Order: sequence, then C-alpha cells, then structure tokens
Amino acid sequence: MPEGPEIRREADALSRALAGRPLERVEYRVRGLGRLARRLRGARVTRAWSHGKALLIAFDRGLVHYSHNQLYGRWRVGPAAQEPDAVRAVRVVLATGSHAAILYSATEIELLDPGELDAHPFLARLGPDALDRATTPSRIAARLLEPAFARAPLARLLLDQRFVAGLGNYLRSEILHAAGVRACSRPADLDAEAIARLARAIVALPRRSYRTAGITNDPERARRLAAQGVDFDNRRFLVYGRAGQPCWHCGRTIRRTEAAGRGLFECPSCQSAPSRRTRSP
Ligand SMILES: [Zn+2]
Repeated sequence: MPEGPEIRREADALSRALAGRPLERVEYRVRGLGRLARRLRGARVTRAWSHGKALLIAFDRGLVHYSHNQLYGRWRVGPAAQEPDAVRAVRVVLATGSHAAILYSATEIELLDPGELDAHPFLARLGPDALDRATTPSRIAARLLEPAFARAPLARLLLDQRFVAGLGNYLRSEILHAAGVRACSRPADLDAEAIARLARAIVALPRRSYRTAGITNDPERARRLAAQGVDFDNRRFLVYGRAGQPCWHCGRTIRRTEAAGRGLFECPSCQSAPSRRTRSP
C-alpha cells in the first residue's frame, strides 16, 4: 500500500497537471456524487495536497475531493488523451485541455464542503503528518510520551494514524532500524536518548522517501550501490524486505517477524536500544 510519501508525490503530480486550468472533463463513477460532480465542469483545481494517506483536491467552486487509496487505489496522471487502463476500474476522471488525472480502484471517494473537512470521521482522527513542516522531532518526542501513546508497542504505534499520519509498513521497519530500537519496545520503556533518536527518525525517513521517490537507505550508501549497478529494489531500504541478507551496518542477518499483522524486518544487533527497564536493577 502506498504510504504518506507516495501519496504526497501523487498530490504534487495532480497539482502540477491540473492546477489553474478549467476542467473540461469531470467524471465521478461513484454512487451519489453525480449531481455534485456536474457542478465541477469548468471549475479549476486550486491545489492538491495530502494528509497522511488521504488525498485532497480543492476546486474554486467550493468543493473538496477526498479519497483514500486503501490497498489498490492509484492515481495516474498523463496527457489528456491517455487511454484508461482496461484492467482496473476507473473511479474518477479530472481532465483539462492538456492533462488528465484518473483515479483507479479506490473505494473511499467523497466530495465535501470545505467546512466539513475538520469534522470528517477519518480526517479528524489523524495525527500530525510527518511530512508537514510543523511536525518537528521535539513535537514527536513529546507525543511519544503522551499517556495515549506511551504504553503501546512501537510495532503497533507506528501504524496508528492517530499518532502520526502517513506511516505504513515499510516506514515502520525503516524508522525502527534507523533509531536502533526494537519493535516490541514501548515509548515508556525507552530512555531519553532513544526517544530522541526515534522522534528524529519518524520525521526524517518519510521526508527522505518523499525527496528520493522511495529510498530510505542512507543516501551515500544508496548512491554507491547505484554506481555498482545494484537495482532500485535492492538498494532502497535499510532493512525492509531484506530478510536473510546482511545488515548494511553490522553484517548480521536481517530477520523477518510478524507484528500487528504485518511483516516486520529488524537487525538483531543494531536494534537493541537500552531501555529504562533493562538498565534498572
Ligand atoms: Zn545491524
């Protein structure tokens, strides 16, 4: 499933393709949205943005598109004359004279009044987006220690969109490795240094992935591997999907476990952050 960085890049592509020009084609193949969609013919997109895994598009006629890709949803942006993919279900088409954006397969699609955004049942529960400038490591460090989050295992907490929006399965493994902490730890178990490292990783890795179109590995290492001819899939991650391979940092074998129902990848040597509990007599 795409995570926050991938959705933010989709939003960027939608903005670049559509913003400012009148829409010549607007289709919402969604039950109950036909009348609202007709209001959008000739409207202009003012901006597209994301919050976590939610994608939002504002129109100059006072409506806001909301969609969540879930597992299979995907935007494709291209020339206005592009042929829709015959295999996947087209849900939304927004096209100007030059570009078209087609949303395939998403199941959660709504057109909202701007005033409804704050009270939206999904959006209202989202935590801060790791990609937003206002989300700083010190804000995340404080959040980790709030009573609502401090006693949750990190394996579950990092997927909880109420804690931080936009983190998903690959970012979970990558953040824990970068911070040197175990997935089974809870924030309440960690010392101040580990909390600080974790907070920095929660902010830094989604941003790195956003900038690099999906690379969370150390940038210098990823460049070196690319120069050696290593393909994208084998150079992009620190640990995610690398079970049985040696840790880039220490050489120990990366292992895969299941946590909160999803695959989790850890280095048994690099991820052993001291905790209050284990250090106390
Ligand atoms: Zn290691």
